[in-house]
Amino acid sequence: MIKERVRKILAELPEGVILVGAAKTRTPEEILEAVEGGLEVVGENYVQEAEKAIAVTGSRVKWHMIGHLQTNKAKKAVRIFDMIETVDSIKLAREIDKACAKIGKKMPVLIEINSGEEPQKSGVMPDEATSLIKQISTLENIRVMGLMTMGPFAGDPEEARPYFQKTKRLFDKLKEENIPNVEMRYLSMGMSNSYSVALEEGANMVRIGTKLFGERHYD
Ligand SMILES: *Cc1c(COP(=O)(O)O)cnc(C)c1O
Repeated sequence: MIKERVRKILAELPEGVILVGAAKTRTPEEILEAVEGGLEVVGENYVQEAEKAIAVTGSRVKWHMIGHLQTNKAKKAVRIFDMIETVDSIKLAREIDKACAKIGKKMPVLIEINSGEEPQKSGVMPDEATSLIKQISTLENIRVMGLMTMGPFAGDPEEARPYFQKTKRLFDKLKEENIPNVEMRYLSMGMSNSYSVALEEGANMVRIGTKLFGERHYD
């Protein structure tokens, strides 16, 4: 079942769009099934869950951190992830930079934008993104490669559209700025219920969980 769903979505996605399989709460066996269906990037919300899954699937796929990363987990995270999609503060970026320096790695990251401007949510406010990115761009062991956003929780995907548009405008503006050591290549937005809208608004990376793996066991 999982295998077929992965194949179907991969076939549907436009050329050049990266599918991130959002795997929170899934067993390593379920992830393995998705990989057998052709999934190339797995997104994990927790460092510990990722470690368990990687032990089973090995290194034939790429791993993206898509959950909020605590600074005290940065050391472990830089060892296991190929990209961290959720950088939203200079403090976290510095921890990642420091941890990367120790192991000789340059970490590709996306900047998480709080496009709904909801105070309790993670992500940098859109107005503060440019200044944060300029600060991060000076860190040697990090490369900013784009933006990620969740948008406010909405039942109707149309309600997410303005937030995707806002994030795309910011993405384009940052691209024009040509900040050294910053590359605006990836725009990660859209989940199971909203990825079609996100693609219409310019996403080239989508994070899909339920539609690949089925309803979650627990959350
Ligand atoms: C769970 C999750 C997703 C996927 O959500 P679905 O609705 O199951 O597709 C995408 N992005 C992040 C950050 C998530 O935590």
